[in-house]
Formats: sequence, C-alpha cells, structure tokens
Amino acid sequence: MKAARLYQFNEPLKIEEVAPRQVKSGEVLVKVTGAYVCTSDLDIISGHIPEIKLPLTLGHNNAGYVEQVGQDVPDFKKGDAVAVFGGWGCGSCRFCRQGEEQLCSLTRWVGFGVDGGYAEYLHVPSYRHLMKLDKLEPVDAAPLLDIGLTPYRAVKLTLPHLYPGSAAVIIGVGNIGYFAVQIMKAISPGASVIAVDVREDRLRLASQLGADWVIDGRGKAADEIKRITGGEGAQAVIDTVCSNDTLGLASAAVGRKAIIMLLGLAGGTLPYSFLALPSECVLTNSVWGTYNELEEVMALAAMGKIKANIKRFPLKDINEVFSGMRKGQLEEQAVITPWS
Ligand SMILES: [Zn+2]
Ligand SMILES: [Zn+2]
Repeated sequence: MKAARLYQFNEPLKIEEVAPRQVKSGEVLVKVTGAYVCTSDLDIISGHIPEIKLPLTLGHNNAGYVEQVGQDVPDFKKGDAVAVFGGWGCGSCRFCRQGEEQLCSLTRWVGFGVDGGYAEYLHVPSYRHLMKLDKLEPVDAAPLLDIGLTPYRAVKLTLPHLYPGSAAVIIGVGNIGYFAVQIMKAISPGASVIAVDVREDRLRLASQLGADWVIDGRGKAADEIKRITGGEGAQAVIDTVCSNDTLGLASAAVGRKAIIMLLGLAGGTLPYSFLALPSECVLTNSVWGTYNELEEVMALAAMGKIKANIKRFPLKDINEVFSGMRKGQLEEQAVITPWS
C-alpha cells in the first residue's frame, strides 16, 4: 500500500510502498478515504513535538471503510463506514475507564506515536477505537475528529457558566475557532456569541457562521465586549490563540463566575492571583475530547448544525498541502483522499 512517511525532520514526506501486515485478532484494517491535514503535522515535521520516532506515517484524523476484520471483532464488517478515534489509551487506568482516553498517560496517538492515515490503509489495533458513520461520509467526518472534537469539549466545559442573555467570546477564527463559533451557537443555552480576530475576512466568516457580534482584535476589544455585556463582561472566553495579547484580552473581558478556556498553543502566560481576575472566575484548559463527545460532534454534523469547508487533495499532493499551510494560503480544511 502507498503511504506518506517522514524520514527526516524538516524534509518532505516520502510517498512509498509499504508492505501491509497481517490483521491480528481484534484488529481492523481500515481503507482510508479521508484524512484531515492538521497544522500539528507541521510541528511534527519541524521536530517541535518531543518523542517522535522516525520513520513515521503522519495523519491523525482518519476515516474510511472497513477493509478487513481480525478474529473476535463483533459488529464490524467489510464495507462499514467508520471514523478512527485517534487516541488509543491503555483501557484500564482511571481516565480510560471513565472514557477520557485523551488524558491517559499511556495513550498512543495515531500519526504521532504510531503510523497514521496518510496512507491507503490504516491498522487499528482494536475495534473499540472505531465509530460507525451512519449519516456522514468519511471525508466529511475526518476534520471533525480534530477541529470539531477539540472545540466541542472546550465549549461543553464552559456551559455551566452560561445562561440565556449571557455572552461567550471566541478569540481567533482559525480552524478551531471556525467550529467553536458554530458549536457554541448550536449547544449554548441562549448565550450570544462574540468572535474576535485580527483579520477582516475571518470576522466576515464568523458572522456567516452565526456569531452575533464580531470584534476586530486590533482595536479596544475588551471595551467593546464590556459594552455589549452591559459592563458585566463575558461569562466564557475561549482563547484559541493564547498569546500574551489574547490572554490579556481574555482576562480583561470576563465577568464574575466566568470561565477562561485556554485552547491555543501560542505559549503566552496569564498572571493569576486572588485579585487578578473577577471573583470566582475559573481558568482552565481543555484537551481534545472523548469518544462519546466525538459521537456528539458527529450528531451535530449529521443534523447540519456544524459544517466544514473541505478541499480534497490526493495523497501525492501532501507536501504541497503542507507548504500551502505554512504560507497561510489554505483557507479551506484540507482532506487527503488516498484513493483519488
Ligand atoms: Zn490535530
Ligand atoms: Zn489509560
């Protein structure tokens, strides 16, 4: 089978033939028909993610059709449309047992620690990592595994702070913010959604996605948010950037008993002390999501409440997709379709 593999950091992936291995008991071989390309791949390629062992087939957001099942695999058969949940936990620690495999210290991450889905086939070690897709095409499901699930969990964690008439702020309308705005509109209990970005095209996009207010982050965004909320401040701020500037905005824009959710990797810090934030304001982060949360994301997509903006690319174009992403030229969500 063909696979796109990284042999050296800061080098293009090599498309090569890899001999398929035997499908063992409990395993499933998935024919990959959609693999969403995430910016984390750029961090893997540049060597910025620790403990990556090469060579490695990248691709952590994979969906397709069951090709072959090993012995003792109930409920799945050849031809079933499936999404592959990409964090394979130990299955027996406290976090795994409560469904939070993304928090397991032993989780093997597809496309990071084990070979991923920029390939014609993907070996999945257990059927329990598969989710049947009854209402979505694999290509449409692939981006949801990452930029759907991550903001979904983050938004869900903010919900206890929100109520009808309150306001939730999404800072940054990149791919995570793109879904955060839609998900907040879809599942918040009547909170209005305020999107902040420094690019006008992204603010226009946020309006199209349902944001009630859009604010240019280059201006006095905190004052604007205070004005919109009658002086109280927002009840939730999800910062998908997390630079010093955006975290400063988050802390200036929240109200009492609000929540600031860190969801970006820009590496900024936020001073925290008893009086630094309004009373009982919660400061936390959110990491990817659970299998059940992924099912909920798929349900929202099947209902048409959240939508991706997908552009398909054949496997041979993977390196061009990465260069487009590096230059910021890719506005759509890129999905590799290895069989086209
Ligand atoms: Zn990712
Ligand atoms: Zn575990």
